[in-house]
Amino acid sequence: MHEMAIVDSLFQIIDAKVKEHQIKKILKVKLKVGEMTVVEPMTLTACFKVYAQNTVAEGAELVIERVPLMGKCRECNHVFGISNFNFQCPQCENRAVDIVAGRELYIENLEVEM
Ligand SMILES: [Zn+2]
Repeated sequence: MHEMAIVDSLFQIIDAKVKEHQIKKILKVKLKVGEMTVVEPMTLTACFKVYAQNTVAEGAELVIERVPLMGKCRECNHVFGISNFNFQCPQCENRAVDIVAGRELYIENLEVEM
């Protein structure tokens, strides 16, 4: 399952931080999740709860901030929101589009008790 692998790698980061800063308890984890990652927030939250059991993150709140998918046209530099994965510039109909937002998947912020 996609979400389980994500939570697994998140906890590797969290564990490293816990050791580094001798964190006693994690209260809140704020995540930035781009639309391109096709992550289901409900599933991600459920996986997080399972992983957090018997760790310093048990009972921590997981806040997921979704980042919409944005593209930039290579032809006319127009920046636009991409819906339904339709990678075409609405201005000049060019299909050479760079993704400028929506691929994010990282911990933005941890609220902890030292
Ligand atoms: Zn264009």
